[in-house]
Amino acid sequence: MLWKGQRESTNVEDRRKISGKGVAVGGGVIGVIILLINFFLGGDPSSVPLPQQVPSGQSQPLSAEEEALDEERAKFVKVVLGYTEDVWKQLMGDRYQEPTLVLFRETVQSACGMAGAASGPFYCPGDQKLYIDLSFYEEMQNHLRAPGDFAMAYVIAHEVGHHIQYLNGTTEKMARIRQQVGEEEYNKYSVMLELQADFLAGVWAHHTQKMKNVLEENDIEEALNAANAIGDDRLQKESRGYVVPESFTHGTSQQRVYWFKKGFETGDIKQGNTFDDPSLR
Ligand SMILES: [Zn+2]
Repeated sequence: MLWKGQRESTNVEDRRKISGKGVAVGGGVIGVIILLINFFLGGDPSSVPLPQQVPSGQSQPLSAEEEALDEERAKFVKVVLGYTEDVWKQLMGDRYQEPTLVLFRETVQSACGMAGAASGPFYCPGDQKLYIDLSFYEEMQNHLRAPGDFAMAYVIAHEVGHHIQYLNGTTEKMARIRQQVGEEEYNKYSVMLELQADFLAGVWAHHTQKMKNVLEENDIEEALNAANAIGDDRLQKESRGYVVPESFTHGTSQQRVYWFKKGFETGDIKQGNTFDDPSLR
């Protein structure tokens, strides 16, 4: 994706220096994967207070090289956030209130509770903020095998999608449903919510391209690959070797790819009613 020299969003709270002193080392690949899976499958920080997660291992200060890479990623994320602001302002007008992005390192306090880097990026409706630890870049690249800048852009756009769901009342509706139905039934709704956020990420990609012509050749593939990599079925298979469909909360790889694509191809926000899709009931 073309992004260098573009406007960086100013709706950013940089807590990297205060939230931790360096990058967590130790804990190992397995620990990170288990925490990631926990995030993608179970804990939905957008609606439940997160359990306290103590960062694993010890902190190390960043080297000059790592510092520079981190800064580059921060810039990238700010530009992507700026792109989401431009698109959603155009599509929603004054109804779009820009969310704040919090950059953190290791641990962060949000209105949804305490979160660790291993939770992955998340949106907290309680304070309307997106939280990202930039080391997630490496998680995508190395453990989820979803490299590429546009894979990261998709993740940011997905979280912004949750913000739109907050603005249009879907988040509140979900909170009511949670009171009324059992866990298995609620998981179905959670899948619909997540797939809609994927759809909204696709709609964003469509309009960003139309407005700015910034997509490069493999970008959409990177996003689809990321959507595929973080499907519940694939993450579950990798973690326990079998799949338990009723415990899905984000949708299968195929569903995530399908809804992102649908958003990207149509660019039509009205086509994203995952809650009325009979195949998801
Ligand atoms: Zn989500």
